[in-house]
Amino acid sequence: MDYPFFQVSHYINGQFINRGPQFEIRYPATNQVIGSAPEAGATEVDEAVQAARRAFAQWSRTPVAERRQILKRFAQLIRDHEAELATIETWDVGRPISENRAGYIPRIVANIEFFADFAATHGSEAYPMDNGYINYVLRQPVGVAALIAPWNIPLLQATWKMGPALAFGNTVVLKPAELTPIGTWRLAQIAHAAGFPPGVINVIHGFGPDSAGELLTRHPEVNLISFTGETTTGKIIMAAAAPTLKRVSFELGGKGANIIFADADIERAVAISLRSSFFNQGEFCLAGPRILVQRPLYETFLERFQAATAALKVGDPFDPATRVGALIAPEHLARVRSYIELACAGGARILTGGEQPHLPRPFDQGNFLLPTIIAEAQPHDRVCQEEIFGPVVTIVPFDEEEEAVAIANGVSYGLSAVVQTRDVGRAVRLGAALEAGTIWVNDFFVRDLRVPFGGMKQSGIGREGGHYSLEFYTEVKTICLSNQ
Ligand code: NAD
Repeated sequence: MDYPFFQVSHYINGQFINRGPQFEIRYPATNQVIGSAPEAGATEVDEAVQAARRAFAQWSRTPVAERRQILKRFAQLIRDHEAELATIETWDVGRPISENRAGYIPRIVANIEFFADFAATHGSEAYPMDNGYINYVLRQPVGVAALIAPWNIPLLQATWKMGPALAFGNTVVLKPAELTPIGTWRLAQIAHAAGFPPGVINVIHGFGPDSAGELLTRHPEVNLISFTGETTTGKIIMAAAAPTLKRVSFELGGKGANIIFADADIERAVAISLRSSFFNQGEFCLAGPRILVQRPLYETFLERFQAATAALKVGDPFDPATRVGALIAPEHLARVRSYIELACAGGARILTGGEQPHLPRPFDQGNFLLPTIIAEAQPHDRVCQEEIFGPVVTIVPFDEEEEAVAIANGVSYGLSAVVQTRDVGRAVRLGAALEAGTIWVNDFFVRDLRVPFGGMKQSGIGREGGHYSLEFYTEVKTICLSNQ
């Protein structure tokens, strides 16, 4: 197998800088080293933040039509590099190339284009008073935005944050996850070619605690933090942001329920459940790993879902037929497997998977796990409560609608849920009753970018998307205009 080698660098003030101790980047499917990245320390973080601060003075005043033009150019260049970026994302994450080609890169383009247009068309409120005075609301960018992304969907996360931050006139310092820095480094090169002025976009690499991530969240010149990652990390970042009262938006962990009622279309239910369970190897915050099936359909669904799961091709992520790729790192694989052991020790039954597949070299060195279905776990068991973040689902029967709602809501997370039913009244009731930021009825992972995205409970703080992003990335002022 021919491996590439990516020498990743920081992007600070319009320059690519390879400075700082190097850390290795490995391909999850074989654990072979495929690159190296520098770790930013206090100096690089400060340089990036200061560059963003200087650039803010100009970028925040750049006419919105001009900002839109540069963002559109950036989006077009991403489109032009679609095949390359899809490949890089697979080297970074180990996700099947088939998933990258099926709509992933177009969504990255959409993240930029949507906000470029949105920012250029939004209005503002004005209230003429009885006494002839006029109050109006002025929106202005907040300042320097720290954007901190996780490893599971790096390009999607980077653009989901950059798009609105830049369109509304902020400057950014983006830190991708240390496990997947390649795509974001390449994105910085594409942004450079698009012609953003120096300092508007900065990308630094490194780890979280005592490294680039923590330094960024503590930096006094950073005004707001958009963070996506684990709930525990969100709590630490909130504390780091407190002394300077930075504005925060957190998209955190999830443990979604996928509730299948007896009246659901069985073929569709199986197809949707395969995606909501195993997209991105189950390393997906929005996944629905808690499958709840109404008892009359339970045996039939189980049989079909089990057969379909067992038929999923696991292995070489660059094979177009592969449906389940590699988990991000050996430590993560071990953590995911520990939940399977825990479930077995607690009396649950593994119906499918539960083990590593037998793959030829070099994939026998990779972090693969067969997609796994666990039955007979109890809703209060840890395997049904904690985020596993791998291709592992539990399946639990239920009788009544209220029971399904109680089980679905009986976790500390509240990011997303899937409801599968042909009964519109029931769909409406569950839409109101489920504690989740996004609820899909008879589908999964489809979303108009105008709607709010985010989580309830321990799944996050705030919402982004459409005018919710406008709220987060802009400061509002009230101007009261006298008629005297
Ligand atoms: P993580 O919290 O370990 O790391 C995320 C990012 O934060 C990385 O860039 C990391 O370097 C940085 N970081 C870690 N500690 C930090 C600190 N103390 N200060 C500043 N930065 C720090 O998360 P992960 O393992 O990369 O990603 C998986 C998690 O992300 C899962 O919990 C998943 O559910 C969540 N996620 C949520 C969403 C969502 O939209 N809600 C989307 C994708 C992923």
